[in-house]
Amino acid sequence: MTTQTQKEKDYSNAIEVKNYINGKWVPSVTGRTFERENPANINEIVSIVPLSNQEDILKAIEAAKNAKKMWQGTPAPKRAEIIYKAGQILLERKEELARLMTREMGKVIEEARGDVQEAIDMAFYMGGEGRRLFGYYVPSELKNKWCIAVRDPIGVVAAITPWNFPIAIPAWKIFPALVAGNTVVFKPSEHTAACAAEFVKALEEAGLPEGVLNMVVATGKDCGTLLFEHPDIDMISFTGSLAVGKLACEVAGRHMKKVMTELGGKNAIIVMDDANLDLAVDGITWSAFGTTGQRCTACSRIIVHEKVYDEVIERVAEKIKQLRIGNGLDPNTQVGPLAFEAQLRKVEHYVEIGKNEGRLVIGGERYTEGECANGYFYSPTLFADVEPNATIAQEEIFGPVLSAIKVKSLDEAIEVNNSVQYGLSAGIFTQDINKALYAVQWIRTGICYVNGQGTIGAEIQLPFGGVRGTGNGHREAGIAGIESYSEWKSIYIDFSGRLQRSQIDA
Ligand code: NAD
Repeated sequence: MTTQTQKEKDYSNAIEVKNYINGKWVPSVTGRTFERENPANINEIVSIVPLSNQEDILKAIEAAKNAKKMWQGTPAPKRAEIIYKAGQILLERKEELARLMTREMGKVIEEARGDVQEAIDMAFYMGGEGRRLFGYYVPSELKNKWCIAVRDPIGVVAAITPWNFPIAIPAWKIFPALVAGNTVVFKPSEHTAACAAEFVKALEEAGLPEGVLNMVVATGKDCGTLLFEHPDIDMISFTGSLAVGKLACEVAGRHMKKVMTELGGKNAIIVMDDANLDLAVDGITWSAFGTTGQRCTACSRIIVHEKVYDEVIERVAEKIKQLRIGNGLDPNTQVGPLAFEAQLRKVEHYVEIGKNEGRLVIGGERYTEGECANGYFYSPTLFADVEPNATIAQEEIFGPVLSAIKVKSLDEAIEVNNSVQYGLSAGIFTQDINKALYAVQWIRTGICYVNGQGTIGAEIQLPFGGVRGTGNGHREAGIAGIESYSEWKSIYIDFSGRLQRSQIDA
């Protein structure tokens, strides 16, 4: 970054990350690496990461393919025991992993602990699923015949993850995929490869057999479309941007592969005139500026009833003023840096657009106080009087930028909420049960909060995902996660000893 004070790079705590293929930690065949800097202090190198190519990916696919039969033949409760044990290892190492995460991608330490906790929760949940993997028996229309539906693994899953939840998102994908009997090629973001490697190590230490989980670190560009079209990849589980999600669906669709996409968001909080405004303002601030706005579920629009609009703007601005910005390792920090330079540039780009689309109430510039001058910090920003169809009210910014939209009624608020290309999360603050339930009924998002945390705070035992541009109909987490990573197999067992014809002899 040109505007930073130029200092020597500090490699003293840098971690060298390798690929994990067929049970071994190996460098990329390319020999190329990428130096991941701490976004709160860009002179500190956190990890040195392999930049792999398609040859590395092919090796990982081969290993996952070869391990398939052995893993599918391992009883599900045994598979699940390994996942449960990995959860225990993550629990033991929670603090260490959280600190690494804060250094690697900037989120504040408390939220980094939450990220690891989400993976632990998922491990313990999926550890239990090994003894369920729900199937069912239903009666047959014929005598002496059973009808049973069971879950089959899909095969080799390509799990492709972004950088904003470096341990939680891999856990959402990989734990249910493994318990359901799939083997995995894991392609994490190069920005959080050290966290990804630590996640894999927990499974390795828990006793996962070689080849079952393979990790290759590569940029999207170097992957090309290989993971979306290779004949030995049976399913693609992708979390990231809409553009890459569409590419995955298009290419994989041509090859009849199952694709699960978890993409962007443009989430809103509706504040009605009867809302508890103390609660609403807390929920808005937490949802909009937690993880520096870099959550797929982050609130980036508030849709406020005209009777309380001015008061809400004033109170949110006041709360923003009190937010403590800084290095996430400081337990007092509430807003950390953006994760890397391109994120900062993207936020700056949208704020420039926003200056012509609304009234800048607070923020709108880089934050360079003290040591923050050496990182990718940006002041939490609020625009008021934004039209619902403005660019900053429609496109995902993925940073600490909030737009306020004024409405006259609940119906108008719901219409504005539903008017974006994404449909991940929404929240409403109202004291009126009828308004709350009416909103829940008509809001078109995969997740909906009433008087809660705003738009963030999903728990792992419920389905997670969204509609329209956010996803293609599949869900992560809970039982829905098992559903996504398995296929139904219907089994008919006739013990009558004669030919009984369905629909005819019944
Ligand atoms: P991105 O699409 O740029 O990258 C996501 C991942 O895909 C990275 O690992 C990247 O290297 C990889 N990738 C890109 N092209 C690829 C290709 N051709 N083949 C294989 N892998 C490829 O997204 P990002 O910037 O890392 O993440 C931010 C986006 O993720 C935001 O839009 C955010 O809303 C979304 N997100 C969604 C959810 C959700 O559950 N809905 C959760 C977190 C983040």
